[in-house]
Amino acid sequence: MRRYSAWALWREGLRGHAGWDRAWTSPLPKPRYEVVVVGAGGHGLATAYYLGKNFGITDVAVVEKGWLGGGNTGRNTTIIRSNYLQDPSAAIYEKSRSLYETLSQELNYNIMFSPRGVMMLAQTEHEVRGYRRTAEANALQGVQTEFIGPERVKELCPIIHIEGPRYPVLGALWQPRGGTARHDAVAWGYARACSDMGMDIIEQCEVTGIDSAGGAVTGVRTTRGAIGCNKLAIVVAGHSSVLAEMAGFRLPIESLPLQALVSEPIKPCMDVVVMANTVHGYMSQSDKGEMVIGGGTDGYNAYTQRGSFHHIEETVRALCETFPIISRLRMLRQWGGIVDMTGDRSPIISRTPLGNCFVNCGWGTGGFKAIPGSGWAMAELVAKGAPGPLAAPFGLERFREGRFIDESVAAGVAH
Ligand SMILES: Cc1cc2nc3c(=O)[nH]c(=O)nc-3n(C[C@H](O)[C@H](O)[C@H](O)COP(=O)(O)OP(=O)(O)OC[C@H]3O[C@@H](n4cnc5c(N)ncnc54)[C@H](O)[C@@H]3O)c2cc1C
Repeated sequence: MRRYSAWALWREGLRGHAGWDRAWTSPLPKPRYEVVVVGAGGHGLATAYYLGKNFGITDVAVVEKGWLGGGNTGRNTTIIRSNYLQDPSAAIYEKSRSLYETLSQELNYNIMFSPRGVMMLAQTEHEVRGYRRTAEANALQGVQTEFIGPERVKELCPIIHIEGPRYPVLGALWQPRGGTARHDAVAWGYARACSDMGMDIIEQCEVTGIDSAGGAVTGVRTTRGAIGCNKLAIVVAGHSSVLAEMAGFRLPIESLPLQALVSEPIKPCMDVVVMANTVHGYMSQSDKGEMVIGGGTDGYNAYTQRGSFHHIEETVRALCETFPIISRLRMLRQWGGIVDMTGDRSPIISRTPLGNCFVNCGWGTGGFKAIPGSGWAMAELVAKGAPGPLAAPFGLERFREGRFIDESVAAGVAH
């Protein structure tokens, strides 16, 4: 595939942009592949990419029931951070964040990674203690974060009202190399690289059944015919339990709607990401000028990509309190995704009761930031049939053994 460069842009500009290749091809499915990955979200595509890049496995199909990146990957608020409490989490999220630093160059695709800094506000004494503890844990884990006072918060983000009526800002956990990236570009960049390696990305192809014999998967049934495979990777976020049921096992996952909204675009007024977990809302400003806003999950399980109206009201109320400047902004768009939540708010990257079937899910409200690291770890699991150091703690057996990786503080509310 022809590389993107300033020179290529100039050349194509002279000839009406007629010479660009398609970023990825849309072939018909072949009868059989070495690996079938179900789900062309960021995690599925990253899994395919690192299978090719790290293990030389390119006989891979990524099958997607809708359009590429149309699940949570194209619906999230794009926050990237690695300031988690537990060591296994810090390891995989920091691996991911560090891969993001150079992903545009690696994929030759501008994913618009913007390490503008992420702050998580402490608005109660309990949060102050919690975030101080996380900062200490991060120091031991080699993750660069610090606990900052309210004056520094105001300096970094002047539009915050630090003396709020209900919950004044008492400080924040600050990660200077956290930030954002353009979500769909991450999916597109991985897809282009996978296609370039000869992999098939098959959209509008829903998996409707999983065939197995002798304790192993033999293939999948899809709306575009049967596809055989030697290994199956299920990477479908909110639909993980549905696919697991097809394969004949159960997952400790609940699917919940989570929604976000953006305002009309305004002039630049905020160049950091702010998360306010006590009042429950978070905000950043996109490169287009829109204020990107998110809140919490709905209080009931569902498969809608919409979310309930009262959540919008609660989220906007929380943010108006924290950022009075936005109180007269008009909202432009609202949408939802179906997030896959585990009890300990940590992901599952695991073998399953079927020998050649692997599952990657449970990223819940915070898996965008994990896409490169998760793909890296999942590819190793699929290629070797056993987890490497990044994935090992996240196996399904932890639920049976009571060995939870409790991230309810770092991930239960925030993103
Ligand atoms: C509103 C919102 C805000 C968020 N904010 C953040 C944030 O700021 N930071 C962060 O890190 N994370 C955030 N997240 C979470 C993040 O988006 C997800 O954890 C991540 O995108 C999951 O990626 P994925 O590839 O696993 O899933 P998805 O992108 O959902 O991909 C799964 C794919 O599987 C496909 N699929 C499902 N069933 C089938 C089938 N039967 N056959 C074929 N294909 C199938 C789906 O169509 C989908 O495209 C947010 C999520 C939402 C909804």
